[in-house]
Amino acid sequence: MEIPKYCPYCGSKNLEELMPTELLVDNTPWFINHYECQNCLEVFDKIILPEDEFFDNPSQNN
Ligand SMILES: [Zn+2]
Repeated sequence: MEIPKYCPYCGSKNLEELMPTELLVDNTPWFINHYECQNCLEVFDKIILPEDEFFDNPSQNN
């Protein structure tokens, strides 16, 4: 599971991971992680896609 490095709002690395949400999309589980920044108290989400190598494939030929 990938954890974001810093808050997108203030750049703080002091993040609290909240209870994730699981969705079923086409019978594939997607996880939505929720993080609360302990510095500015903003909450943001990160969607964990089941196939994130889909985005990296073309770069193999460089
Ligand atoms: Zn923040």
